[in-house]
Amino acid sequence: MAERMVGFAEAVAEVERHCAQLPTPGSERIRLTSALGRVLAGDILADRNFPPFARSTRDGFAVATSFAYTELHILGEVRAGQRWTGSPVKAGECVEIMTGAPLPAGLDGVVMVEHVERLADARVAIPADRWPVTGANVVAAGSEARSGDVVVNAGTRLEARHVGMAAACGAVEVGVMRRLRVAVLATGDELVDLTETPGPEQIRNSNSYALAAAVEGAGGDAVVVAAARDTAESLAAQMRLAFEADLAIFAGGVSAGKYDLAEEVLAEEFGAEFFFTGVRMQPGRPVVFGRTESGKYFFGLPGNPVSALVTFRLLARRMLVALAGEQGWQPQFVLARLAEDVRFGAGLTRFLPAQIQTDLAGAKVRQVPWRGSGDMAALARANGYLVVPEAGCDWRSGELVTIWTGE
Ligand code: AMP
Ligand code: MG
Repeated sequence: MAERMVGFAEAVAEVERHCAQLPTPGSERIRLTSALGRVLAGDILADRNFPPFARSTRDGFAVATSFAYTELHILGEVRAGQRWTGSPVKAGECVEIMTGAPLPAGLDGVVMVEHVERLADARVAIPADRWPVTGANVVAAGSEARSGDVVVNAGTRLEARHVGMAAACGAVEVGVMRRLRVAVLATGDELVDLTETPGPEQIRNSNSYALAAAVEGAGGDAVVVAAARDTAESLAAQMRLAFEADLAIFAGGVSAGKYDLAEEVLAEEFGAEFFFTGVRMQPGRPVVFGRTESGKYFFGLPGNPVSALVTFRLLARRMLVALAGEQGWQPQFVLARLAEDVRFGAGLTRFLPAQIQTDLAGAKVRQVPWRGSGDMAALARANGYLVVPEAGCDWRSGELVTIWTGE
């Protein structure tokens, strides 16, 4: 089988190239109260103007701003949820208004209650420098969104703010994409499930759990297939089960070892085509991306737990969200200031477990000591990653560098 080792950017581009050609998944209608984290199937449209009326943003006094007064007669009040039903407001008059109430007809500005002095006989004094300009403390009808405008786009993975907007439009139910079934299959003769007691040379299968959690975190439905042994027969049988899902994630058995048989089995049993068979990245170098003869995409992630999670999140997740119909997902790369000197040679894009501290001044980053891609403990102590470009680095403490939040 021909090997194809690519740089990290090239690997991302390769996955994206396939993502661009996917059909949209089926959809279903669900109650808005269950929609958090789901991917919206159709645009949500404003069912009315936002705001539906000129809305006061302050408690105060609504006035006609065209002519300034220092003293006004208070004609009455209008509260949120009501509208002004009194007589038309004339020159020298105002209406006391509450936050969220509609402006009475003919009035176009609000003086804050904090800036006036109430006088006897339903009068109010307004200092000259507090007289409002037109539109002051008022949001015009339809200025946030017009009836019929798209307020949440199809393909959005719904967060609290989108649920709020949908609720404001009266969407009791929303159309969402079908949840994607993502199979997770770990391989290795050394693996035992966490319900078993490992022998001295055995390892608990943590990848199935970590990857299932990562799949669920990315909005997929994880289908965990029982771990495969390092034999072609066992791999073929378990992979066949995994390919019943929409996307298959394998972990382990993709390195160059004598018992790393995953690629061989994928090629021989499933007619797989490989788009890359390695990426110049650390962790995650042996990661494989391909498609079976019958059109199922798969990722073969390295078995090392840190590699498995990092390659899932940076590469496989991209395919997962695309298959799920989600638009606009991207890994969160941001700048942070180094809290130590860092030096690495060229050749690999590195994502090194790191501690990131943030405050109003920004983020500071420091590497977590780690023993390489098998070091789960280091990953558990980290809350992000320091990103070192393929060209390598010779950085001093205090430099601005790229970090990946892990999301
Ligand atoms: P492999 O990619 O199969 O060569 O495995 C690389 C390393 O990851 C080995 O030390 C394995 O024991 C370890 N490993 C493989 N699969 C898992 C798993 N499911 N859970 C925890 N560690 C694993
Ligand atoms: Mg193995």
